[in-house]
Amino acid sequence: MFNLILFGPPGSGKGTQSANITDTYQLQHVSTGDLLRDEVSRKTPLGVEAKKYMDQGLLVPDEVVIGMISSKIDDTPEARGFIFDGFPRTKAQAEALDKLLEFKNTEIHLVLALEVPEVELIKRLVGRGATSGRSDDNEEVIVKRIKEYHAKTEPVAGYYFAQGKLERIKGDGTIDETFKLLSKEVDKYLLPA
Ligand code: ADP
Repeated sequence: MFNLILFGPPGSGKGTQSANITDTYQLQHVSTGDLLRDEVSRKTPLGVEAKKYMDQGLLVPDEVVIGMISSKIDDTPEARGFIFDGFPRTKAQAEALDKLLEFKNTEIHLVLALEVPEVELIKRLVGRGATSGRSDDNEEVIVKRIKEYHAKTEPVAGYYFAQGKLERIKGDGTIDETFKLLSKEVDKYLLPA
């Protein structure tokens, strides 16, 4: 198994690049944002709870997200590996993920951190808001999401840096340029499927 985390602030291109990596390497894509939005649209108890946080640009509580990830991993035992997108977003989530994977005799192999200047992030997210239909893609909530990223999620990079697993990737080029930089790193571990 090969397990990858795509790390970076809101708007850094994690969703787009995850789709490219999933296609090329046949990994199972796990996006907590997508899983949460699915729960919200089905109005499940979890979704109703999560929406309160998401609409304010705040992180959903760790235990909610960790439970969701655990069942997603269990659902796909035949996966070649996982690409985690938008998770882990706190140190507690990172520690929980390590435990879940250890239980399956596997681990995180690589963390690719997309780096994009803040003005570019805001520009991209506001632009996406025009078409995404996402209730959290308006400027006020975007600024809060970026603030939450700096406060709670950025320290997760240090957690993986200490394990020697973090690679920083320049994320402000075109989609193709960024994908080339990412695949150069993945190729060191795994050949395209
Ligand atoms: P983005 O990275 O553009 O902010 P996501 O789709 O990853 O978008 O996340 C949207 C929202 O869903 C977040 O602002 C947060 O409220 C919630 N969320 C997603 N993933 C997590 C997570 N791992 N932990 C806590 N909250 C999360």
